[in-house]
Amino acid sequence: MAGKVIGITRASHSELRPAYVRAIEAAGGVPRVLPAIADTDTVQQYLNRIDGLLLSGGADVVPEHYGQERHPRLGAVDPDRDAMELTLIRMALQRDLPIFAICRGIQVLNVALGGTLYQDLPAQRPSTIAHQQEEIGLPRDQFCHEIDVVPGTRYHAIAGSNRIPVNSLHHQALDRVADGLVVAARAPDGVIEAVEAPAYRYVVAVQYHPEETAPHDAPSRRLFEAFVNAL
Ligand code: MN
Repeated sequence: MAGKVIGITRASHSELRPAYVRAIEAAGGVPRVLPAIADTDTVQQYLNRIDGLLLSGGADVVPEHYGQERHPRLGAVDPDRDAMELTLIRMALQRDLPIFAICRGIQVLNVALGGTLYQDLPAQRPSTIAHQQEEIGLPRDQFCHEIDVVPGTRYHAIAGSNRIPVNSLHHQALDRVADGLVVAARAPDGVIEAVEAPAYRYVVAVQYHPEETAPHDAPSRRLFEAFVNAL
């Protein structure tokens, strides 16, 4: 619904990319950026003031949160942000607050619910598909590979098709999917590109970056509109 406030998480040491804010505003929502502070009382206060939660992209989740040692190819981490987001997600789900998760967001959501991640796709799950399109010179707002959408999911109704093109800016992905999450799309190499949690009012998560393609792609825009309309 228009005018609803969407809390957007961000890194503790870098700015939020403006594309998230623009995509929420274009869908009729009011964005509110949430600092990466871990304190539980502060998180409660954030939750009292937002109608929905957007988990944005960023650094890798510290693997200790899913019971693994650090792989040598683990990327940069943001422990303060991990602590804050893991608390925020669990408390948001308790309230059944709508959640839309992007890139790192799908990963931290999976970890919060008990799932695991591939710490580095090229090392642990080699593929002919480029999941890091900047390495092959593709700008962030261009499509990189297609995904197969699972019929019957909420995500399928939003995507509007069995196969859609997406961008790809990730070196990690979901490995073991947490209980409560359902796979809603995969890349042709099997990498998970979307999940949702049917038991909740609205929990949809994608591995790609629809905020970058929303200005020129209707399925990307519909992800933001469906989220804002669910509030
Ligand atoms: Mn990908």
